[in-house]
Amino acid sequence: MNVLFMGPPGAGKGTQAEKIVEEFQIPHISTGDAFRLAMSQGTPLGVEAKSYVDKGLLVPDEITNGIVKERLAQPDCAKGFLLDGYPRTLAQAEALDEMLSSLGKTLNHVVNLKVDRNLLLARLTGRRICRSCGATYHVMFNAPKQEGVCDKCGGELYQRSDDTEEKVGTRLDEYLNKTAPLLDFYGNKGILYEVNGEQDIQAVTAEIHAHLRGQS
Ligand code: ADP
Ligand code: AMP
Repeated sequence: MNVLFMGPPGAGKGTQAEKIVEEFQIPHISTGDAFRLAMSQGTPLGVEAKSYVDKGLLVPDEITNGIVKERLAQPDCAKGFLLDGYPRTLAQAEALDEMLSSLGKTLNHVVNLKVDRNLLLARLTGRRICRSCGATYHVMFNAPKQEGVCDKCGGELYQRSDDTEEKVGTRLDEYLNKTAPLLDFYGNKGILYEVNGEQDIQAVTAEIHAHLRGQS
């Protein structure tokens, strides 16, 4: 099963991806995670990406496409994959189509998580992430049992440097201008499924799960 999660920053893509990849045993491919890893390691890719990520801007298509192309060719993607946060521009969506067709694959489902802009700011500024395992929390909506500590692995929770009020505004504008038009692109292909992402986390998971299992 080849799935793509769409939705604005803070819609819950990563949160839902954690659950769905566990259920379906497929790799989770997040370009945001790939950039943050490269940035923390200080690789040339990380240094280049940082100049965009820190401003809340999209990283150029050629760089982003290269990462995904390499990742999709890995053997663990043979049984399927979940793309999260890619594609984010029409050029990326077209590049993805080419990558998949050269691998003899196709996207089965695009799931769009719909959340109103005014809720996204609260979601993003309260987000916390585990430094060790990458699990996502929220200080109010999905709080860990012990403040600052990951429930799953005991790792330290941190706040992303781009989850500030100022950068969230730029990121949401990038989404509206460059990514939202992709909904028509996938809608026209007949594989788009819209989910109300404002429900609680478990309800959203249940709806996505039912859809992917062909029960909705
Ligand atoms: P994205 O990957 O789309 O940017 P995340 O999954 O990281 O979004 O979620 C953003 C923040 O919102 C996180 O702090 C997460 O815990 C919280 N969150 C995710 N889904 C929900 C939900 N359905 N209700 C309330 N909070 C949520
Ligand atoms: P995310 O973790 O999905 O919120 O992404 C964090 C940041 O990484 C974004 O604000 C962009 O700067 C960059 N990024 C992630 N995915 C992409 C993409 N597909 N295209 C361009 N930039 C991206």
